[in-house]
Amino acid sequence: MSISRREFVYSAAGVAAVGLGGKMATLGAQDSPPEKTDATGGPLVISSANGLAACRKAMEMIRNGSDPLDAVVAGVNLVEDDPADHSVGLGGLPNEDGVVELDASVMHGPTHKAGGVAALRNIRNPSRVAMLVMQRTDHVLLVGDGALQFAKAHGFKEEELLTDEARRIWLEWKENHSDRDDWVYPEASEEAAHRLRDAGLEFTYGTINCCCLTAAGDLAGVTTTSGLSYKIPGRVGDSPIIGAGLYVDNDIGAAGSTGRGEANLLNCASFMVVEFMRQGRTPEEAALAVLRRITAKCEKRLLVGDGRPNFGLTFYAVRKDGLIGGASMRGEGKMAYHDGTTCRQVTIPGLFPVRPEKHAQGQ
Ligand code: ASP
Repeated sequence: MSISRREFVYSAAGVAAVGLGGKMATLGAQDSPPEKTDATGGPLVISSANGLAACRKAMEMIRNGSDPLDAVVAGVNLVEDDPADHSVGLGGLPNEDGVVELDASVMHGPTHKAGGVAALRNIRNPSRVAMLVMQRTDHVLLVGDGALQFAKAHGFKEEELLTDEARRIWLEWKENHSDRDDWVYPEASEEAAHRLRDAGLEFTYGTINCCCLTAAGDLAGVTTTSGLSYKIPGRVGDSPIIGAGLYVDNDIGAAGSTGRGEANLLNCASFMVVEFMRQGRTPEEAALAVLRRITAKCEKRLLVGDGRPNFGLTFYAVRKDGLIGGASMRGEGKMAYHDGTTCRQVTIPGLFPVRPEKHAQGQ
């Protein structure tokens, strides 16, 4: 990739970038990610905001010489195993029938291979199954019962993924989302329904995406999720679809996403982020450009007032030279990173600076 040093210096949303020795520092956004310009700027791990522990684990592993994909998958396994995170794996929020269905994909830069599973039930680590689809089949995607049988063939044990807490949240949704069925919430009232909405118990999105760059310049990524809460059984989001919720090109960079999967599916969005980086854009510029494209193509029923989408969507990207960044659809977003020294969350810009409405979907 030939990108001149001058091209790294950019200005976006009033944020000016200046050179600091071998690295670039961003001024204007207090806790923006640091930018690196080294030809191979790794090791670096980035993730969605819920991935601090994943970043730490992945960094530890790549520093010890692990393959980058093994590292990020081990990182997100911590989140899949965490019953307190209701967006992934064990404890994930279920579909409308109360059944947890998981989606995941992995992509390995050095071999340009990928694997995914969709609508997988009863297996808490879909990312590990996705990796096996990549390594132990001639396919890229397995779904539903086929994915479950494949996981069992590799020794995964089935378990109930719906925790008591996730079941309670689902039941509250079920009893409150309509007054035209026979499910009754003990406190059924407009007020209770508002309380649930305010607590974010309407349809919610949530996911972890984690990508890394090794010191040798190799890239890998993973996205894993329980998807849209209370979805129609069988609904598959963007996370297991290569190019939508995740994409890695070892010559250019890696990108992944959280938020409304349907928008990514319709726009091959993570692929587009990487392609925009191929053209020389920074990760942040690429993410903002994709958010603009998604907005331009968005169907009218999902637009509010002045033409902003009513959903949340966030991209996280790392370029092969070590530049990292991302952007969110509405309001500032957060991402996490580990650069070998520091591991923290940072703010990333929103395409639309203010959240348009309280009850909109996504993050
Ligand atoms: N993108 C995921 C999906 O649509 C959910 C999310 O990231 O919040 O399934």
